Amino acid sequence: MRLLICRETIKKKVEELGKDISSHYGEKPFTCLIILKGSTIFAADLIRSITSENMDIDFVRLSSYSGTSSTGNVEMSMAELNKFKDRHLLVVEDIVDTGNTLTHFMKTLENIGPASVKICSLLEKKEINQGKVKIDFLGFDIKNEFVIGYGLDMNERFRNLPDIMIYEGE
Ligand code: 5GP
Repeated sequence: MRLLICRETIKKKVEELGKDISSHYGEKPFTCLIILKGSTIFAADLIRSITSENMDIDFVRLSSYSGTSSTGNVEMSMAELNKFKDRHLLVVEDIVDTGNTLTHFMKTLENIGPASVKICSLLEKKEINQGKVKIDFLGFDIKNEFVIGYGLDMNERFRNLPDIMIYEGE
């Protein structure tokens, strides 16, 4: 594996994102909707850099990657999602690749009728997503390479790496 983004660079960027999100919402109540499992490490740092006193957090489980290719599965119950009606939502994602997962999820959310939906993603593969999913708060645009670490896995491994690394096989 090869280093792509080191922990110090991640830390600085997450603090900037927190500032931007704090000034966007001000005192308005909103929910950080954290997408399991990849976003957990990012979200843990991000929410602590948001200064709002009217924010809460929730979790949803969406797609799964099998090995290094996207399956695009979306698993979740509508009954559970209904609590977000009329709520301002900030969807927190680790990485947007093809954009399939979030495109599907945003359609599902629209049917619930939240007050607003914004997306924060730590990483985006812009050359793959090609603007399909509009990210309101983005950390880094990366090339089309499979990355691991800082919550991102390869078949459940490597989430614990503190830096973001390019996976090159073993
Ligand atoms: P998309 O539907 O945008 O193609 O993929 C989104 C999901 O695929 C992400 O939430 C993430 O779980 C997974 N994913 C996409 N690219 C990568 C990658 O480079 N590394 C890892 N570990 N997961 C990825």
